[in-house]
Amino acid sequence: MTSDIYGLFDTLSDDQRTRWLALRQFLDQEIAPIADAAWLDGHFPMQVVEKFAGIHQLLIPDGFSWPPADPLFAGLIKLELGRVDPSMASFFGVHWGLATASIEVLGSDEQRARWIGPMSRFERIGSFALSEPGSGSDAAVGLTAHARKDGDGWVLTGQKKWSGNATFADVTVIVARTDTPGQVLGFLVEKGTPGFELERIDDKIAKRAVENVVITLNDVRLPESARLPKLNRFKDVAKALAIGRFAVAWEATGIAMGAFEAAHLYAMERHQFGKPIASYQLVQDKLVRMAAEITSMQCVCFRLAEVARTQGLDAARPALAKVICAGGMRRVVALARELLGGNGICLEYGVARHFADAEAVYSYEGTQDMNTLIVGRALTGISAFV
Ligand SMILES: Cc1cc2nc3c(=O)[nH]c(=O)nc-3n(C[C@H](O)[C@H](O)[C@H](O)COP(=O)(O)OP(=O)(O)OC[C@H]3O[C@@H](n4cnc5c(N)ncnc54)[C@H](O)[C@@H]3O)c2cc1C
Repeated sequence: MTSDIYGLFDTLSDDQRTRWLALRQFLDQEIAPIADAAWLDGHFPMQVVEKFAGIHQLLIPDGFSWPPADPLFAGLIKLELGRVDPSMASFFGVHWGLATASIEVLGSDEQRARWIGPMSRFERIGSFALSEPGSGSDAAVGLTAHARKDGDGWVLTGQKKWSGNATFADVTVIVARTDTPGQVLGFLVEKGTPGFELERIDDKIAKRAVENVVITLNDVRLPESARLPKLNRFKDVAKALAIGRFAVAWEATGIAMGAFEAAHLYAMERHQFGKPIASYQLVQDKLVRMAAEITSMQCVCFRLAEVARTQGLDAARPALAKVICAGGMRRVVALARELLGGNGICLEYGVARHFADAEAVYSYEGTQDMNTLIVGRALTGISAFV
């Protein structure tokens, strides 16, 4: 494989290899053919939900667990989704890595019994709302969405921004603060709840097949049973999110691989001055720079999966992986786009969508700056951001 120079995929176990190849086949047959059209259309292709339902046992043969029982395979899922269609990587990441994981880690027995099975089988879809119009990097301190106790239940007010999948999700996890200093709570808001108002963000230049929204919480009344009992302060949210940066590092690596593979093919086939452009030294230089970035990213991801399996993840290691992989991804997609000349901006040639989608990945799950500062804090013991 052109994009696996150090043979990292050769290290998969027989079971991982079988499932990885089946996943590749699924993505090539079911997702690749519709990805450009969905991106152009700017709507999530709803028919894929059923298709994901059809492969849920391939993804998690032993049922849903969080953190994932097999971090390497969890990473590979995100890598392959990123390689073929980064919008699908977001759909999957928000549904499974943010919403389902939050219910599993922070929910009550009743909430888990009701949601985890159907969500892990893609029969019910989840969304996750932490970020707000005025609060992103500073979510730990800047949240303004508000939860007020009202008799036996709660009333939510405020706004959320981005929340992937929310337009069609059966359940959205909402994070809100109360008047008690330091108290942050989580709620499960079901589709159709009065006062839960959604406005699509339609002007995106990245991840266009993901449905992102602004949510207005207009006195949303919820029973106590909708509250996630194990979410009481921001660090509880962080528990559920810990693996998000790990997953996005893999996604970034997949996006880089997808763009590189398309650029490599193009360089071999495209002729200028009577020869394939791959025969020119400056083109080879670009291909090697891309391959070098990707090989480094893959080494980081595979090693981090082993650390996750044997030791668990702290804050700094996934943050460093995101810094390395998102930075590398951005350089790779730029080189790939450049190598295709004018065709680099047309969807047909397999690089433009990855080039645009990479911009969202660079900023979500913590911007490059915030992940850098998390690693800086670990190295020095001094927080430079709060
Ligand atoms: C496509 C997409 C999907 C998303 N999906 C979801 C979702 O499903 N659910 C959800 O809750 N959120 C989601 N998000 C939100 C995402 O997590 C935020 O965009 C991200 O955390 C950055 O926040 P921000 O956009 O508000 O930028 P800001 O925090 O406003 O940052 C703006 C700039 O300031 C810099 N900056 C901020 N603070 C500091 C500092 N202390 N020191 C140095 N630089 C600083 C940042 O690095 C950045 O360059 C999504 C975002 C995108 C783009």
